[in-house]
Amino acid sequence: MILTNTEKNKEASMIYKLNKLDLNNDFYIKRDDLYPFSFGGNKARKAELFWKDLKNKGADCVVTYGTSSSNHCRVIANLAAGDGVPCTIISPIEQKKQTYNKILIELFNAEIVFSPVEKVKETINTVLAKLEKDGKHPYFIMGGGHGNIGTQAYVNVYSEICRYEKENRIKFDYIFHASGTGTTQSGLVCGQILNGETENRIVGISIARKNPYGRDVVVESVRDYLANTDWKDKFDEQMVEFDDTYTNSGYGVTNDCIREWILKLMKSEGIPLDETYTGKAFAGMIEWLKKKQIENKKILFIHTGGTPLFFDYLNGIC
Ligand SMILES: *Cc1c(COP(=O)(O)O)cnc(C)c1O
Repeated sequence: MILTNTEKNKEASMIYKLNKLDLNNDFYIKRDDLYPFSFGGNKARKAELFWKDLKNKGADCVVTYGTSSSNHCRVIANLAAGDGVPCTIISPIEQKKQTYNKILIELFNAEIVFSPVEKVKETINTVLAKLEKDGKHPYFIMGGGHGNIGTQAYVNVYSEICRYEKENRIKFDYIFHASGTGTTQSGLVCGQILNGETENRIVGISIARKNPYGRDVVVESVRDYLANTDWKDKFDEQMVEFDDTYTNSGYGVTNDCIREWILKLMKSEGIPLDETYTGKAFAGMIEWLKKKQIENKKILFIHTGGTPLFFDYLNGIC
């Protein structure tokens, strides 16, 4: 299985300037959607580290959860298939049409256990207990690759961004990204702290969660990651900017503005965005900058992936 070893000081995805966007600021993009495994994305970055941990612990099967459109579940199922590790995915019962992630998860032969949303926790415990009773050593990964290992993946990304800045002698004024379970954002914030930066420049555009909950989860994740380090006193909650203005009444709910930006980015730059995460975050970023009248700044957008969701979007417009 070919995975990029992000710990070897190698840039795992490129950063470049978007030249066709004439919007009063200089826009750059970090293409984590091209991270070289299983159609890329932040879930591939996190999964790589979880997988290493699974191997170190000598686990012989993996259990995680997520919906049928989950990028995380697709990547885990893909890794499991490649390594011949049995994979169980606990999925909430939902009335949803077919998605490419779901097709891929089935193709990778993952076992899907459906559960009513309110019983997901119970179902996970039952599945894990059964595997253990059968003499297996299951490895459990929280939905979306949440937890310190997932956070580490974006601490690494922050280092990549800093290296790019150093080599190219620029400094991004703002770093935007789609924020969901908060792991990506907590990794970036921890990266800032570990680099001795005290002023925040990271803006997480929430794709579903509302405040205070959404922000609290990020704050908690940062605390958790820093808990056993010398940096724990350096964290100021003000460093977490989790903007819930653009959630558009919930996970996966789209609108014309998001769709317009997806088309614009595809046609002008050849970059695929999706309606659930990156399209929503990109549209939110543009609004955020407009509202605050920010001009002549250097802006980095982290493209967190979701390529199969881009094709779901195409299916919707054809
Ligand atoms: C999961 C996901 C996010 C959100 O990442 P979190 O770490 O959960 O906040 C953003 N973009 C894409 C494409 C995702 O799949």
